[in-house]
Amino acid sequence: LVEIRAVRKSFGDLEVLRGIDLRVEPGEVTAVLGPSGSGKSTLLRTINHLETIDAGLITVDGEVIGYRREGNLLHELHEHEVLRQRTAIGMVFQSFNLFAHMTALANVAEAPRRALGVPRRQAEARARELLELVGLADKAAVYPRQLSGGQQQRVAIARALALRPKVLLFDEPTSALDPELVEEVLAVIRSLARAGTTLVIVTHEISFARDVADTVVFMDQGQIVEQGPPGEVLDAPRHPRTRAFLQRVR
Ligand code: ATP
Ligand code: MG
Repeated sequence: LVEIRAVRKSFGDLEVLRGIDLRVEPGEVTAVLGPSGSGKSTLLRTINHLETIDAGLITVDGEVIGYRREGNLLHELHEHEVLRQRTAIGMVFQSFNLFAHMTALANVAEAPRRALGVPRRQAEARARELLELVGLADKAAVYPRQLSGGQQQRVAIARALALRPKVLLFDEPTSALDPELVEEVLAVIRSLARAGTTLVIVTHEISFARDVADTVVFMDQGQIVEQGPPGEVLDAPRHPRTRAFLQRVR
């Protein structure tokens, strides 16, 4: 579903992605681990074209991200076409980024109304279903400041799902949360995984990665050092850098 081929990205002199190859199959969960600064967020951000890439190619469901193919040539897409591609790629950030002046329901209903022109009643009916899915049916009329961090993050997940994305990207969805709120968010993500949603999750939660991921990817210094099933990468890592990292975070 997602194919990343030989992707490179620099910020000035700093090469942050140094030849990334990764395939995400439909319905699979990929967990991305690695030290701070290894390029995990940048990689996620390239998938929905929040970052442009310097070399390589990213396709989602066969469509080249950010570009249009013409024969052998790639032409940059206009911003509105990028926005259309982005609606098929959900993203949930560490800091929930909800609209502060909108209720939980409006936060979830807003994007389908704007991006897809879904009528208000229909968007709100779907938003109610999604709030129920994340366990917040009773919070529809509440504003973000009245919600706990874990609840806000669950609204953010419902909001991402509202566009029916083909793939959902999570960038450390629980690392801004108080420890006691982490599990409620992980539980929602786990249920999405069980329902067959295609997920790519940057996380420091090793036991969660072991539990939900089909593939674990370990990144270091802009490269994928090791990837495979959790039983291999987490429990029998082959690369010394993976071993060193896991020893530090455990
Ligand atoms: P963390 O675990 O701390 O979130 P990360 O693996 O997500 O780290 P990135 O955020 O992808 O790492 O950053 C990789 C490198 O790129 C870092 O050295 C960072 O300082 C640099 N970087 C990221 N974004 C930019 C930017 N917009 N301009 C310049 N440098 C950047
Ligand atoms: Mg990051």
